[in-house]
Amino acid sequence: MYNVMSPKAEEFISHEEILDSLEYGEKNKENRELIDRILAKARERRGLSHREAMVLLDCELEDKIQEIFALAEQIKKDFYGNRIVMFAPLYLSNYCVNGCEYCPYHAKNKHIARKKLTQEEIVKEVTALQDMGHKRLALEAGEDPVHNPIEYILECIHTIYGIRHKNGAIRRVNVNIAATTVENYRKLKEAGIGTYILFQETYHRESYEKLHPTGPKHDYAYHTEAMDRAMEGGIDDVGLGVLFGLNNYRYDFAGILMHAEHLEAYKGVGPHTISVPRLRRADDIDPDAFDNGITDETFARIVACIRIAVPYTGMIVSTRESQSCREKVLHLGISQISGGSRTSVGGYAGPEPEEENSAQFDVSDNRTLDQVVKWLMEMDYVPSFCTACYREGRTGDRFMTLLKSGQIVNCCHPNALMTLKEYLEDYAAEETKAIGDKLIEKELDVITNPKVKEKVVDYLKNIHNGQRDFRF
Ligand code: SF4
Repeated sequence: MYNVMSPKAEEFISHEEILDSLEYGEKNKENRELIDRILAKARERRGLSHREAMVLLDCELEDKIQEIFALAEQIKKDFYGNRIVMFAPLYLSNYCVNGCEYCPYHAKNKHIARKKLTQEEIVKEVTALQDMGHKRLALEAGEDPVHNPIEYILECIHTIYGIRHKNGAIRRVNVNIAATTVENYRKLKEAGIGTYILFQETYHRESYEKLHPTGPKHDYAYHTEAMDRAMEGGIDDVGLGVLFGLNNYRYDFAGILMHAEHLEAYKGVGPHTISVPRLRRADDIDPDAFDNGITDETFARIVACIRIAVPYTGMIVSTRESQSCREKVLHLGISQISGGSRTSVGGYAGPEPEEENSAQFDVSDNRTLDQVVKWLMEMDYVPSFCTACYREGRTGDRFMTLLKSGQIVNCCHPNALMTLKEYLEDYAAEETKAIGDKLIEKELDVITNPKVKEKVVDYLKNIHNGQRDFRF
């Protein structure tokens, strides 16, 4: 039974409803009249249902496919402008009791180096991340109640927020840890986390159970209902994701949109972000052993259709994707990317000896953060290190209200320019700085409120005097 308001996973992610949606998409993939109606609705910028989005994903009319891409690009521009938020993952521990078949941290992997950062090592890692210029982290840890209990995660968050090094500071810590209890989510909220991120991997229950044969993650319902518990624990911003390549991408596309609809209907606020990782090679994991891989073309279609279906939700692409693939999807809807990432435990402070490889996956985009920042600016994007909304209490529906009000040009855009300038001043290479300074000058014109503009100009001038962290 399908019931978007039900707290039960099997009802808000109804297998039958997904199958019906897949059939609906397939049946209407050349239905010009319906596709036109859906596109007209999408132009109102209020999103689409999973069924409507499915028709766009399946669409086989070449001219309409081009319209879908153009609309995604326009919606991206309207809501997010040309800002791209920067972040980095920080791996705390790769101890894990689960048996996930696609991840080298699975418990049966006896040869991968197992590591867990001490608080002293965290200081070294975070200092290295601050020296790169990062302000926003996503913490990653395997599930292991003995090695990585919630107390350990909380202690790490506390340590990270306390580290001050030159002009650096981590201003937002997002957390990607296993599904847990309402009580633990409350503790994470009290520790000041930004977004709680948990990837569903796949919404297809049977495949999910096969892919997670052992460990607590085997419990599909407990995992799928985690975001409801996180919100009950007071966390407003949650981040969804599936791992494309594990299961039929159409099924998971419908599933993730149904999940977003459920959170919006039942909790009053949709997901803050949606991530679109694809399966990657890693230690004992061969992506070719999975037969659901998707092409770059399909990947771009997925990004565009998610952007159209949930215009207010941020979209994340990581260094799992190559530079060229990231370039292709940036304008279609991506609003956050990682840069200079290390996917091993302790990888920022120094390189790992080869025999001690602890990485979760092989990175495709190996450039430094500075190279990524320069590359973005050369394409006229504004890399943003802003974390203001979270620190000003604009989370959950308050953030959505800001986005919907169209006032981002006088809030997010100025914050992006000021934090970019901080980056240029403190961390950038000469050439990057020169490109960035020119870009900032040009982008000041986007700000429509003269008072806001005046304050920004003033801040930018005073940055040489050591002034930092002014925000709207
Ligand atoms: S995906 Fe997460 S839960 Fe699964 S083995 Fe890897 S670290 Fe553990």
